[in-house]
Formats: sequence, structure tokens, C-alpha cells
Amino acid sequence: MNAKKFEVAACPEMWEGLDMDVARFDKARLMLGETYEKLFLSQTRRPEKMAYFDDMISGIFGGRIKEILTVKKSGKPVVGTFCVYIPEEIVVAAGGVCIGLCGGSPGSIPDAEKILPRNICPMVKSAYGFKAGRICPYFQVVDFVYGETTCDAKKKTWEILDRLVPTHVMEIPQMKRARDRALWLEEVKDFKTKVEEISGSAVSKDNLAGAVRLINNKRRALQRLTKLRANNPAPISGRDALLIEQIAFYDEPERFAVKVNELCDELEDRVKEGRGAVGAECPRVMVSGTPMALPNWKIHNLLESAGAVVVNEESCIGTRYFKDLIAEDGGSMDEQLANLTDRYMRIDCSCFTPNDERVDQVLKEYRQSKAQGILHYSLQFCHTYNIEEIKIREACEGEGIPYLAIETDYSAEDAGQLQTRIEAFLEQIGD
Ligand code: SF4
Ligand code: SF4
Repeated sequence: MNAKKFEVAACPEMWEGLDMDVARFDKARLMLGETYEKLFLSQTRRPEKMAYFDDMISGIFGGRIKEILTVKKSGKPVVGTFCVYIPEEIVVAAGGVCIGLCGGSPGSIPDAEKILPRNICPMVKSAYGFKAGRICPYFQVVDFVYGETTCDAKKKTWEILDRLVPTHVMEIPQMKRARDRALWLEEVKDFKTKVEEISGSAVSKDNLAGAVRLINNKRRALQRLTKLRANNPAPISGRDALLIEQIAFYDEPERFAVKVNELCDELEDRVKEGRGAVGAECPRVMVSGTPMALPNWKIHNLLESAGAVVVNEESCIGTRYFKDLIAEDGGSMDEQLANLTDRYMRIDCSCFTPNDERVDQVLKEYRQSKAQGILHYSLQFCHTYNIEEIKIREACEGEGIPYLAIETDYSAEDAGQLQTRIEAFLEQIGD
């Protein structure tokens, strides 16, 4: 237990300089600190190496923004993205910073609903609202954002967001045929050109090879963490693991990989000694579905407060982000971009059709994580995940896997009803 009062650090002068609504943002900062203390620091049997990630949250609106500003002042690009299909390796190869801007907070949704329709995905509304309300320093610091055509809500929001911040769009095909790959490769090349325009210098093949190794290492560290969670008792809570997966989209990649590996060293010791973050009798649940952007901890909190432990996230803030690596054999720029495109094409988002590889992946991760049940999580109005849920459910029924599907948003209104359904699901696992 951390006896010291936890606080997310304030940097009002820097926020003023970023043209933020400082008074309003400061209230959000205080609330984030309180929530974090309640959900994370109250856990007993936490690994000591979580201290780094606590510090990251403490400095998330201060120290980390200062680091990014330093990169920006040196003329390097700072790019905001909303999807794991945007290749961060190219931004890193240009010496820049790539930041995941997806929104996971209900606090910014009213800002979005002043202009966007209410009945679209809360993640899109939350992200847009952060920019519209000027209440996210990451949104304020980026040179431009790069959206994509994965889902209709995002695709059309980029046109509106472009009025507030330069917004470019990568066309992501919805099928994976040879002609789709050809288009995709062209889109990746366009992205590289845009990044080069901003940085004012060309990305060399050696720099790209270095960036591929760097981001692969980050992904490898997250893979290692995932494998350790398969042990019983689980050496780390699902809440802490999700937090690390969220921080992966903000932190400096080299340092992040070092810190995740240090944590994994500690977790390996715990596994050898049979020490867990929870008892071995805890029901083990895998969560599958839509991403959970920071600070969306709703489902993990409900599950773990009900006595379960989450052992895997089949999600873009989870394994979909790091399960695949890019071939490191270098070669010409064209060869590297082709390797990169092939890796990104393996991501199995529900916006593709057909997408049966995701069903297989869910079952594979279920077995690997030694989970005892699957909770499918869809954000409200996310049609592709909500409809693909049918196939996931059928596959789970076919395999006799305890299963629960939840569709929800960021509000706390349905917390009581969800709690009742989760408790019944955990009883089913226990039978
Ligand atoms: S769920 Fe699909 S659209 Fe959303 S971040 Fe993941 S890959 Fe991108
Ligand atoms: S969760 Fe679904 S609706 Fe929301 S942004 Fe992602 S793909 Fe689009």
C-alpha cells in the first residue's frame, strides 16, 4: 500500500502555453489522481516495479509532455494516432514521437456531443471532445493527427476534427486480397512522405531498420508480460497489466521496454516462489473486443472487484497491438516497407471482412492464457465488434467456454446491472 497521497502533477504554465482550458483540466487532473489511488494503489500484493508506471501516471500531463515538447522543438514530428494500423515505426525512424490519442473518459463526451451525433462510439466522442474542449495536452502538442478509414464513426469524424487540428487519413482496406495489399503499401508510403515533410528530412533505410528493432523490442516486452500472466496464481493483476498496455501508447519506447522487462524479471521471481497478485483460486477471465483507452478501467475494475483476475486482453490495447513483429532483416527501403505492411495486415480488427482469423486468435489466446472464461467487450454503437461477437459467441459455445458479452459505454449508470451479470458469470466459471 502506498501511504503517500497520490497526485497527478500539475504544470499550469506549460498548459497555458499549449492553449488549454487550464481551470477545467486541473479538475480532471485531480479526479484522475483520486480514481487512480482508489483503483490501483489500494491493491495489495502489487509488484514493486509497478512504481515506474505509477510515476508515469503521476507525470502523464507534466514530465512526459515536457519530453515530447523537447522533441518537437528540435524539429522532429509529433504525430497523434487513433488506431494500431498507423505505423509508428515510421515516426520513430524520423526521430519523432507517435502518440495514441484515443479517448477513454466520459468527461470529454459532452464537448463532442455539442456537434457530433450522440449515438456513435464513446471512444470517438471522447477523443474528439478532448480536442474540442482543449482538455488534453497530448492533443495540443501534436503537429498533426493521422486517422484511418477503419470504421464509419472515425472516418467521418476526421473531416470535422480537421477544423481543429490538421487531420490526415490513411485508407485502410476492408479486405485482405492482393489488390488490397497493393493499396495499403501505397498508403504506408504516403504516410512516410507526410512524416518526412514535417520533419524536413528523409527517413533513411538504416533509421527505419533501427525503428523496427526498437518497436519490436517494445512489443516483445509486452509479449513477455502476457506469457507471465498465464501462470497460476497470476503474478500481476489485470488492472495493472491493462495500465501498462495503455501506457505503451504514450511512453518513450526504449525506456518503456526496459521498465516492462524489469517488471517481468520480478514477476518471474514471483512465479518461481508461487507468489501471486491474487490467490490461485481466483476465477481467471480473458477480455476480448474493443480497445480500452486510458482511463477506461471500467470492466477490469468490475471483474476484479468481484473477485476475478483478468489474464489477457485480446484487444488493440492488448495483444492485437503487440502479437506480431516486423521482419528485422532490413534490406532496401521498399523491402522494409513491404515487411512493415505485411505485419500491419496481420492485425485482425473486426472492420475487416471476412475476419475469421480473429475467432481463431481469440480461442488461441484463451488456451495460452489459461483463462477459464471469456468476457466479450463491445463499446456501444461499435457495429463491427458487436456483430462479430456472434461468431465469437458461437465459437465459445462450440468449445464449452464460459462466456459473457457486454456492450457498454463510459458512464457508471449501468455499473450495478453489469456487476450482477459479472457475478453470475463468475459463478458459472466456479461450477
Ligand atoms: S479496434 Fe480496429 S479501428 Fe479500433 S484501434 Fe483497433 S484496429 Fe483500429
Ligand atoms: S470501438 Fe468500434 S466504433 Fe469505436 S472507434 Fe473502434 S472500431 Fe470505431
